Amino acid sequence: MDSSYILSTINPVVGTLFSLTFFLIWRQQPHKMHIANWALAFFIGSLGFTFEFLNYFNPVFKLTDGVNIFVPVCVLLVTRGLCLRYTGQAPTRLLILILVVADLIACWINFVHQNAFGRGLSISIGIAVLLMFGMQAILKARTRDRIDLGILAAIAAAAILVAGRPILSFFVEGAPQIGAIEQTSFWAVSIKAAGLFSLLVLAILFMLRIAADLFAELNQQSVTDSLSGLLNRRGFFAAAEPLARQATPARPVSVLLLDIDHFKDVNDGYGHRAGDQVIQAIAGLMQLSTPEHALVGRLGGEEFGIFLPNTRSAAALAFAEALRASIDLQSHADIPSTHPITVSIGLAEGTGEELDLLLHMADIGLYEAKDNGRDQVRMAGRAMAERNTRHRPAKPA
Ligand code: GH3
Ligand code: MG
Ligand code: MG
Repeated sequence: MDSSYILSTINPVVGTLFSLTFFLIWRQQPHKMHIANWALAFFIGSLGFTFEFLNYFNPVFKLTDGVNIFVPVCVLLVTRGLCLRYTGQAPTRLLILILVVADLIACWINFVHQNAFGRGLSISIGIAVLLMFGMQAILKARTRDRIDLGILAAIAAAAILVAGRPILSFFVEGAPQIGAIEQTSFWAVSIKAAGLFSLLVLAILFMLRIAADLFAELNQQSVTDSLSGLLNRRGFFAAAEPLARQATPARPVSVLLLDIDHFKDVNDGYGHRAGDQVIQAIAGLMQLSTPEHALVGRLGGEEFGIFLPNTRSAAALAFAEALRASIDLQSHADIPSTHPITVSIGLAEGTGEELDLLLHMADIGLYEAKDNGRDQVRMAGRAMAERNTRHRPAKPA
């Protein structure tokens, strides 16, 4: 049994298994179309390899037809998947055009000039150009981790391998004759070996990419509040706690605690859904108006926290006032303008204290704001906050 036969047997099996795996993963996450493209790519690739395998039993299946037809389509789908994953869109028509032009040139060289070498080279260059679009998509992505760099390197290697292979073959055994390429020729074996290499390396890297994406999404979900899209309490604490401890008198931080005024009345008067929409609208406004390096979280039902790194209380106070005023002006779909939605805000400045203590100080300010008639910003005196117990005083009825 020669190596060519072994490769011909392994390639379709491995390709089909990967295709099936990608397909099953895609069924779980149907919005991720790049996975569907990769599933189809590996399926079409396996068909090409199956063609090569069948040639052993029936010459109707021409050895190179599998490569010339199926492999470029497989590469097109791999590239389309890469474009979708890294840029969110794919230049599908352009990719098809490149494939068609490469195949037309190959046909012309094949039938008019009877030159198998030229045909192979033109197909290979077409494939390499398609792969370059995939590389360009990875380079365009906003962030790149090691897996992305691995994929980039593997695609570059595949492009070099594919485009360089006919030239290498030419030097090893000269130009192949049309229709006379044997299974054991360097030309045929090198196609299969390059196929197996690309199949294995890319499939493993794509699997890693998909797994890492899923892990990042789950991580993100565990720190995100689903109603408002802001950080949840856990995410807010995880991100703000270390920053609070790093603060110094020269580089203080500020913390705001916001609570919607008379929110029970909103729920009671207009329904829970209207209440939810108010939470979403205020969350959206807070996210829009806070500086980029600030952390915004929904800490409880209708209570929000804003952590402002490297911000003195005077600046935080001005920001809180502006935010309060803009929330007052916001209109809400299911709530008449005669019923203004307002917030009360408590403020604290930190110079290295625990976040818990800062939030407690802000909570005292918030309580004062509520006590003073709501719709205002208050900062509790530090001495007073520290004298107080950790329990928030009971709210007046
Ligand atoms: P105050 O001005 O003193 O803050 O008055 P309040 O009515 O806002 O008082 P309180 O904080 O006790 O009430 C909060 C209400 O928020 C109670 C609860 O039903 C409602 N709430 C909490 N979470 C949600 C939510 O996710 N959606 C909706 N619609 N309501 C919520
Ligand atoms: Mg409230
Ligand atoms: Mg509350």
